[in-house]
Formats: sequence, C-alpha cells, structure tokens
Amino acid sequence: MKRKPFIAGNWKLNKTIPEACDLAGELVESLGRTEGADLLICPPYPALAPVAEILRGSNIALGAQDLFWEESGAWTGAVSGPMLKAAGCRYVIIGHSERRQHFGDTGPVVNRKINAALASGLTPIVCVGEPLEKREQNVTKEFLRKQVDESFCGLAASAIAALLVAYEPIWAIGTGRTATPETAEETQQFIRGLFAERYGDEAESLRILYGGSVKPGNAGELAAREDIDGFLVGGASLKVADFAGIVQAAL
Ligand code: PEP
Repeated sequence: MKRKPFIAGNWKLNKTIPEACDLAGELVESLGRTEGADLLICPPYPALAPVAEILRGSNIALGAQDLFWEESGAWTGAVSGPMLKAAGCRYVIIGHSERRQHFGDTGPVVNRKINAALASGLTPIVCVGEPLEKREQNVTKEFLRKQVDESFCGLAASAIAALLVAYEPIWAIGTGRTATPETAEETQQFIRGLFAERYGDEAESLRILYGGSVKPGNAGELAAREDIDGFLVGGASLKVADFAGIVQAAL
C-alpha cells in the first residue's frame, strides 16, 4: 500500500524567535507549495506562534516537540494541548528518545500524553526506538513490543487512525550512523505487525516514519521501502537545502 509521504523537521533546542522566523520564511519560499507530501516543522515553544503566522497559507504545517497531559493548573513550566492548538499547532511529537532519556517520559507518561494530544485535537507523532545495547543483544523486537504495549495501552482503533508513529533507533539519532534501508524496513514492518495484532486492518494505513541521521543522500533509498512512509528529521531539518533535498527524495 502506498501511503502519502510525511516529512517532519524536529528543530529541538535550536533557534531563537528571530532565527526561527528566518528559517521558516526560507522554508516557505522553497517548499511552501509542495504537493504529494505532508510537511511539518516543529520549532521550540517560544517560536510557535510567530512561525504559525509565517506558515499561514503554505503547505507546511506546525507542530510542537512535546506537551504536558493536563490542560491547565499548577504545573510550573508545563505547556498543554489547548495552548499548542491556540498557538497554531496541528501536530505534536511525543516520546522522543531524548524526552524518554532526559525528562522521565516513560511508557505510561507517553500514553497519557497521547491521550491528551488527541483530546486537544492534535495529531501525535509517537516515537519508538531501541538503544544500541538492545540491538547488539539481538532483543530489538522484544524491546519495541514492550514500548508499543506501554505507549499505546488502552487506545482504540480510532486513536490509531488519528496518529503517526516514528521509528527512531537511538543509535542512529544525531550520530551520522543511519540504519540501512534493509534494517529500517525490517523493523518498521515488525512495528506495523505489532499494530496489526492489536488493530487489524487499521495498521495498513498507519504512517510509520523513519528517523535517525536522514540526509538528502540516504533519503531516497529509505523512502523507496514499502513500510517507510516518510521521515522525522533532526539536524538536517535546520538547513533549507538539506530539508528540501530530503523532501524531494521522498516524493
Ligand atoms: C531526531 O531527533 O528525531 C533525529 C532523527 O535526529 P537526527 O536526524 O539529527 O539524527
């Protein structure tokens, strides 16, 4: 089944408001009329509202890199789904490995955040992926099964139809070490199988992105694989030419 490619840029902890506006403006110029793929950028929180203005009328959507599960109240430092929605976001990344590693986003936390995002009308992009030691111990599948079990626990098929998954092997994030197309495809096929076990046919239309050192030079052979439906791009999403090259390769 051919699914519409989805290419997302995760800007992480980069770009002040003026820098983010400059980059967003350049991206609109270069990619703003792209058809045949869904494009998304995820700047840091302070830049969301001003970047939303710049993206207005273009084919590039806006997303956040995380959210908190409560809508409002005494939660210092937190940002909620309704706040992101009001800032112009349509999407939110949840369970990125950096959040899981440094901010205590365990499986149950990720699960609460997915529910909160859906309740706010945001489309979650839920990240899963194994650390190097699990890959080396040959227990990647067991690790991913547990991660999927915890992260998607109790979610209905209608929820799965309203989200995307990103497979990001931790050993490939920001390391320059990309999974081979064979490894990425085999693992993403396995992940789709986990969803098929739980949700039957719904798994066929689920878009599963690959993330981990994607560049213009390796995007084409990855995108050609049946179960790779686009990319979640970190470092290369901060350079217009690189992000544009990745989008072209995925079309
Ligand atoms: C990411 O952070 O989601 C990512 C894939 O980063 P990079 O492309 O830099 O490896």
